[in-house]
Amino acid sequence: QRTPLIAGNWKMNFDHLQAIAFVQKLSWSLKDARHDYTDVEVAVFPPFTDLRSVQTLLSADKISLSLGAQDVSPHASGAYTGDVSADMLAKLDVGYVLVGHSERRQGHGEDDATVGAKALAAHRAGMVPMICVGETAEDLEEHGAAAIPVAQLTAALAELPEDAEFVIAYEPVWAIGSGQAATPEQAQEVAKAIRDALRELRGDERADATRVLYGGSVASQNVAGFLRQPDVDGALVGGASLKVDEFSRIIQFKK
Ligand code: 13P
Repeated sequence: QRTPLIAGNWKMNFDHLQAIAFVQKLSWSLKDARHDYTDVEVAVFPPFTDLRSVQTLLSADKISLSLGAQDVSPHASGAYTGDVSADMLAKLDVGYVLVGHSERRQGHGEDDATVGAKALAAHRAGMVPMICVGETAEDLEEHGAAAIPVAQLTAALAELPEDAEFVIAYEPVWAIGSGQAATPEQAQEVAKAIRDALRELRGDERADATRVLYGGSVASQNVAGFLRQPDVDGALVGGASLKVDEFSRIIQFKK
């Protein structure tokens, strides 16, 4: 009963003109392929400076892509130079916000408390946080695959109200940008551990309704293997989401 979600995290790529060209081409490609939008939800996560342009294009051309942001301030407003608030994003029809991506945890020192605060800010503004969790290669050796992702999830959820909706993206850090994806079995093992934890933390209904995505070197050749797993409900795609044809093939993983 969970609609698969294919999400493209553009990271720091594409200015707003390139963003418009990309979304246009993607929408034509999906039209040509007679993509069924009710079957698979597709989301793009452009940089902040592209959001307004992409939003305008999506609404003008009635393109059924969901829009996500890559980050959000934990603060509502005020003297936070460089921050972008959740309300500002929600005004641009942004539906999802990435929180806890490993590139923010590692490159910007974001800890679990910050990730939780950002998830809460997104939720309060009516958006759905996409909570990213994942273990490093060292974590994997020391604790196995599931312990760190489950701990990160537990910490983030401690900040969110019981009824908050969210998506989880399991992204093993060692698989990101490495060309070395997890196996579908590895992804399933951790996705199941995450769902079991959700059952404990939020009950059956939320656990059954929440989508758990896999991310880390997803490509058109391996995406179907992940989506066949019972607890993997989609993919968070980095590098391969920047090429129209490749991303379009990933979206059509069922064909
Ligand atoms: P790659 O698909 O480039 O490995 O990136 C994954 C990722 O970090 C998506 O958020």
